[in-house]
Amino acid sequence: MPEEEATVSIFDRGFLFADAVYEVTSVVDGKLLDFDAHMARLVRSLGELEMDMPLDRDAILEVHRELIDKNSVDQGVVYIQVTRGVADRDFLYPKDAAQTVVMFTQSRKLTGEKKGLRVVSSPDIRWGRRDIKTVQLLAASMGKMAAYKQGKDDTWLVKDGFVTEGSSNNTYIVTKDGKIVTRHLSNSILSGITRAAVLKLAAEQGLEIEERPFTMDEAKEASEAFMTAASSFVTPVIEVDGTELNGGVPGPVSKRLNEIYIEESKNTAI
Ligand code: PMP
Repeated sequence: MPEEEATVSIFDRGFLFADAVYEVTSVVDGKLLDFDAHMARLVRSLGELEMDMPLDRDAILEVHRELIDKNSVDQGVVYIQVTRGVADRDFLYPKDAAQTVVMFTQSRKLTGEKKGLRVVSSPDIRWGRRDIKTVQLLAASMGKMAAYKQGKDDTWLVKDGFVTEGSSNNTYIVTKDGKIVTRHLSNSILSGITRAAVLKLAAEQGLEIEERPFTMDEAKEASEAFMTAASSFVTPVIEVDGTELNGGVPGPVSKRLNEIYIEESKNTAI
């Protein structure tokens, strides 16, 4: 329906409790990248919150495709959000609320040359279940705003001395001896769909990968750095907390991984 006609109740638990999960799937050439991996993560996020899928995979795919078509999306993203639904405000989950399902598209250019980003660290004040993709995004939004106020592009969040992830992306450094280091999966970070795809491609390229936490000091010593997200693929990072990496220009590993990720994703897009 036209966006002006779309409404959600003020009693929706997504609004009152951030009791909702979401996915963002990228679109290139009008086709969806990694759609099934996003749906698998949606099922998992819902399951962790004792919710079921509101529609099956095929029905969601059909609506995604219809939206891409109706909005003439060549490159961009499709957003889906599922809330527990509408109920009288209560901390206990309602038994019989009908889930609210919202989907929309955003057109934006995703491919092409990328400028490197400058990032600054900030404390990771988010909750302890960052593996669930909930719409509780205010802490990340505050971190990104703090970075913008310092004239930077994004923030890398730090908990107990180690980088967890970016405001809306997974983070990586490439050590001087060529190893890719990225934090291991746990409740501390979101298991990125792009992360999984890029690590697989990196391994196929013969690159060595270490899944472990790293510090901002280690990042400052890195030969290059980058981050991944469905909506921005592999994005080079050229400065961390005021220290320029690779002479302040995107490094070869991140550039190459971005190219092969896009190439591979286009081949498997649906
Ligand atoms: N971490 C966080 C906190 C995110 O919000 C995102 C973007 N959804 C990611 C990582 C990257 O995940 P994906 O590659 O699945 O987009």
